[in-house]
Amino acid sequence: MPVPATMRAARMHAVGRPMSIDTVAVPKPGSTDVLVEIKACGMVPNLGNVLANWTKWFSHLPLPKLPAIFGLDPAGIVVEVGDQVIDVKAGERVYVNPLRSCGACQMCRSGERTRCRYFTFNGYFGFGPDAQKIYDLYPYGGFCEFMTAPQYALVKLPDNVTFEQAARFGYLGTSYGAMKKANAVAGQSMLIDGISGTLGLGAALLGLAMGMTRILGTGRDRKLLDRVKALAPGRIEVHALGDGSTAQWAKQCTDGEGVDFMISALGPGSPASTMLDSLKSVRRGGRAVNVGAVAEVLPVDVHWLMDEQIGLIGSNWFTSAQGQEMAELARAGLLDLSVLEHHRFPLEAVNDAISGLQTRNGGFSNYVIVP
Ligand SMILES: [Zn+2]
Repeated sequence: MPVPATMRAARMHAVGRPMSIDTVAVPKPGSTDVLVEIKACGMVPNLGNVLANWTKWFSHLPLPKLPAIFGLDPAGIVVEVGDQVIDVKAGERVYVNPLRSCGACQMCRSGERTRCRYFTFNGYFGFGPDAQKIYDLYPYGGFCEFMTAPQYALVKLPDNVTFEQAARFGYLGTSYGAMKKANAVAGQSMLIDGISGTLGLGAALLGLAMGMTRILGTGRDRKLLDRVKALAPGRIEVHALGDGSTAQWAKQCTDGEGVDFMISALGPGSPASTMLDSLKSVRRGGRAVNVGAVAEVLPVDVHWLMDEQIGLIGSNWFTSAQGQEMAELARAGLLDLSVLEHHRFPLEAVNDAISGLQTRNGGFSNYVIVP
């Protein structure tokens, strides 16, 4: 099918205002870029509210110049490749990692693109004042029909991963990147604070895929916790927040030792005290990685960190190579994404989709725009 000259795109013309469906030209890929026909794009839960409050909450994280096409987690089919692209072909199914960076600095050259000063989320926001330079190069998020993407951003999808499942790779990869920073290896124990949420459930599925033998998880909703435990009753244990100390419970579950590492994936509004409690569930020499939304300042006992040799690490996102590792885990049947419940919205319903009014089953719900 020839690529059309124009396409539909949901564009935001003013921060916090509804997006409008506009007709725009289909872009041409640059020499080392590809053009992807978008089949599904994952959504940040409650994105509308987040954007409406952007300047209040996140003024340090620049949004693209408006009007802009948002959409963080696209998956689709390559329909055109630039004249210097040799390892990607039209027809390939891909997830487009929205991580953009300069490609030339020391961090980029060592494969650590999230540590580049230009690190920017295509279709969402940037991490520094230079983000607009990246948006000028890549102005297309996933809430449209076609997008350009650099070849370094592509994760090739196996046939057994659907586009809707791939549209969850951003959240899955965030948890995966955190587990890599924790040096996770098979046979270990882990604690996931917020196991029934979008990030937490991803960490649990990855923990099962990567051979974690004891997966402990906390959460608020007992029904959802039971559902998570049912994924692997012999390996997953759950603990409702409010039912006593998480640290004491975790030690009991691990013969007094503590877990090898902890992933903090708590939702917005969670107090620092919850995280401080879970931090103490980590064994001597273990690691705690934060990918969650605790916003309070944490009064950390650094002497305890020293005495117990605990690593406290902040992490966000993941490399495209790590995305490919997840795709391979799924190809082999180790990473089981069949538990996700997809809620599909056409592009025209983008404003309903981002309003956050949908009923939710925690991390089991997967919201996707299907252009
Ligand atoms: Zn760089």
